[in-house]
Amino acid sequence: MPNSLTIALSKGRILKETLPLFASAGIEPLEDVYTSRKLVFETTQPGVRFLVIRATDVPTYVSYGAADMGVAGKDVLLEHGGGGLYEPLDLQISKCRLMTCAPVGAAPAGRRLRVASKFVNITKAYFAEQGQQVDIIKLYGAMELAPILGLADQIVDIVDTGNTLRANGLEPLAEIATISSRLVVGQASMKLKHGRIGPLIEQLSAAVNAIQGR
Ligand code: AMP
Repeated sequence: MPNSLTIALSKGRILKETLPLFASAGIEPLEDVYTSRKLVFETTQPGVRFLVIRATDVPTYVSYGAADMGVAGKDVLLEHGGGGLYEPLDLQISKCRLMTCAPVGAAPAGRRLRVASKFVNITKAYFAEQGQQVDIIKLYGAMELAPILGLADQIVDIVDTGNTLRANGLEPLAEIATISSRLVVGQASMKLKHGRIGPLIEQLSAAVNAIQGR
């Protein structure tokens, strides 16, 4: 259906800030996305549905055309690589920084640095750009633990207030990227459904500007 739209949303903290933007464009889920165990939600616009999935899966669903568009953090998009995706709009939500971090006052390792992260591709690219050879250790969560237990010298992680780092005796070192959530559209969907997607991008852009101007 040329008028149908499947929109993949990242669950968790991004979702809370995403839904009001779509509500401004007249698209609201018909059920409570926070309490329901459903993954697919019909919305107030016939044929438009939301998928509520893990952030890291959003670019995959959209790039393969299983969803037409989606919302994901720039960290997730950088790690994914962005193939098959357009990124037409910075939604200016869920802002944070991707940083290298180490124990407060840590001395240089004196050997090849070990860096733990769930962002393996970003970490590899960053240290290669710095001309520094490092060993990268893939973790899936609680990166802060790695330096405490001597698993790694540094971590690459998301920093917002810095409270998590401080609570674990770590400090930020270098900023790799500033992060916010982005609207992504599959390249095939952009072509096939431009008449439906183009105006929605305009409406979301107006909603972002209205919030920024407050
Ligand atoms: P903070 O203690 O405020 O620096 O928050 C750091 C932790 O919150 C990180 O380890 C992240 O897991 C998470 N976090 C903060 N902001 C975001 C965001 N915009 N997107 C995803 N995760 C975030």
